[in-house]
Amino acid sequence: MDEILESHWSYNKESIFPETVIKADVSRQNYSVFPRSFYVDIEKQCTQCHRWFIFYAKEQQYWYESLGFYIDSDCVKCIDCRKSEQSINTLQQEYGLLIKMTTRTKKETSRLKNIALELYQSGYIKNKHKIDNIN
Ligand SMILES: [Zn+2]
Repeated sequence: MDEILESHWSYNKESIFPETVIKADVSRQNYSVFPRSFYVDIEKQCTQCHRWFIFYAKEQQYWYESLGFYIDSDCVKCIDCRKSEQSINTLQQEYGLLIKMTTRTKKETSRLKNIALELYQSGYIKNKHKIDNIN
């Protein structure tokens, strides 16, 4: 247990589940001073919806060893919020492309309206006129 707690500075102030421990492959991590020698499930509170969620040891291994995320980058949002954020990003990109087009097909216009409506409902577009003005 001590060995796990000492393996990363953040583990002392978080709720961790020592029985879920996975040994890390430090050589694959991206760190400057302290690597993480172990991963454990960590209980966290989502900064967006404030629900509690688990940042799984397996997920950490994937983040820090396969995706190359910096070792101190922290997971602050639950999977649902991360997913909806991702889809919002995708929608915003598509919106950006469509809105810039000087001519649009009927299909593109209706897609654009749908996206705009969805972004409006999620609070990313504040001004409803923007949607009404799409034609
Ligand atoms: Zn959340």
